[in-house]
Amino acid sequence: MAVAGGGLGLLGSRPALPAVGADYDVVIVGAGVAGMTAAQLLSRAGPGLKVLVLEARDRVGGRLLTLHDRNVLPSHGVEVGAQFIHGSQAPSWELIKRYDIATRPRVPDGEAKFRFLDGSRPDWDRLEALHQEAGEALASEIGPDVSYQAFVETLTADPREREMMYTEALSWSAEPDRISARAVIKDGALWNDWHDQDFQVIGGYSSLAERMAAEIEGRIQLQSQVTDIFYRRGLAGIRYKYRGITTALTCRQLIVTTPVGVLQGGGVEIQPPVPASTQRAIDSLEMGQAVVVPMIFSEPFWGADAAPGAWSDYADRISFYFPHPPQAGGNAVLGWFTGAAAQELSDLGPEAGLARVIRWLQEASGQRGLADKLAWHYFKDWVTDPYTLGSYSFTRPGGHGQRQVLAEPVADTLYFAGEATAPPPHYQTVHGAYLSGKRVAQQVAGTLKVGEVQL
Ligand SMILES: Cc1cc2nc3c(=O)[nH]c(=O)nc-3n(C[C@H](O)[C@H](O)[C@H](O)COP(=O)(O)OP(=O)(O)OC[C@H]3O[C@@H](n4cnc5c(N)ncnc54)[C@H](O)[C@@H]3O)c2cc1C
Repeated sequence: MAVAGGGLGLLGSRPALPAVGADYDVVIVGAGVAGMTAAQLLSRAGPGLKVLVLEARDRVGGRLLTLHDRNVLPSHGVEVGAQFIHGSQAPSWELIKRYDIATRPRVPDGEAKFRFLDGSRPDWDRLEALHQEAGEALASEIGPDVSYQAFVETLTADPREREMMYTEALSWSAEPDRISARAVIKDGALWNDWHDQDFQVIGGYSSLAERMAAEIEGRIQLQSQVTDIFYRRGLAGIRYKYRGITTALTCRQLIVTTPVGVLQGGGVEIQPPVPASTQRAIDSLEMGQAVVVPMIFSEPFWGADAAPGAWSDYADRISFYFPHPPQAGGNAVLGWFTGAAAQELSDLGPEAGLARVIRWLQEASGQRGLADKLAWHYFKDWVTDPYTLGSYSFTRPGGHGQRQVLAEPVADTLYFAGEATAPPPHYQTVHGAYLSGKRVAQQVAGTLKVGEVQL
């Protein structure tokens, strides 16, 4: 996290903020699921708390982003952010049901039809056996937490099998040499015990964000990029750019829901520096890389044996799948790129990146001339998005267990929320963001002594 070295100058030269006269009871930075959940709950708590959400973008939803284009896309649009509700037990069903939002179970991956880019098919049984071996080896391991790659290298597996095992890291959107082995294996086991199947939001995930925002209408200020935070017990000051013009306000309680990428280098300076334990927690996390490229083709070029399966390289850095059930999806293919492949596309940029994507898709499908059949596409680079600087948070080696530290209040005034602060295995998800919004609303309500908050 960038921390201001000297006086912030936010409130002139005074060394401390005045104890009275805050503009708001609660200010929340970020109108994603975490921020809007906290805002909803706190707006309803107590005797009329004054709550304001400051959001840098010109839209709400953060990493919920559904594209709509009536001319080419199916009526429900296409997701370039969160894709699925993960599991029939996901806590975010509370929201989905509250707004009566239509969903459908995800069409199964079609494992039998899934194939790698070289045309071979995965040996699922062997992969399962390797994962079991990894889990047992880790359970007996007492040494320091290492990277997942270093851990896999200790197992008896050939290079291709190792690459297949790296899927586990890439599914957390991380390169295997960057992520904690404990996080992949232990949190992965928790996830597998808990998660059953995925669901899609038929109207698109952005519709959920819009419904949430409607409930707190008048309390969200868009195009407001927070640049500086100053806090002491009971009072915080925020400097932000509203449509490019620098302005400031104060509040009694401040909730920061910006993604970890923004906390680590996204231009938000905090004064005084957060406690060493909080800083360590921030440093123990990292944003994964993802580039998402939905494409609509003028005709289906894939054979019957491909749909509704998918193509992927061994470790899932490059994968293509069908984003919608065949009857609902038009001729849509979703290009999904993580880790080094996402970085490669991000470095190339939208134009040269698309050419690379088409080349990979031709290799995967065995077809030629796909650029001529491309009717529409979108290139969403989460790596360079200034308000995420990555896809979602993963745990660095040695960082396992630090997320709950980030969820602890600082001076009973500054709070962090967002997917990165959700407990395992729920971080990285929409429902994890939702849980964190509920958790932080309870913490703030407790400090302000306004009683329980209820959805
Ligand atoms: C490609 C992709 C696919 C995903 N797939 C899934 C999935 O299938 N299922 C699932 O459950 N989850 C998925 N996720 C993760 C999920 O989208 C996130 O975990 C969740 O939306 C995070 O919500 P949040 O409120 O914590 O953060 P965000 O949604 O990122 O909200 C934070 C907000 O803070 C704002 N902000 C940032 N900096 C500033 C600043 N300086 N000043 C003011 N505002 C600022 C941002 O603009 C943003 O609106 C996916 C994410 C991505 C990127």
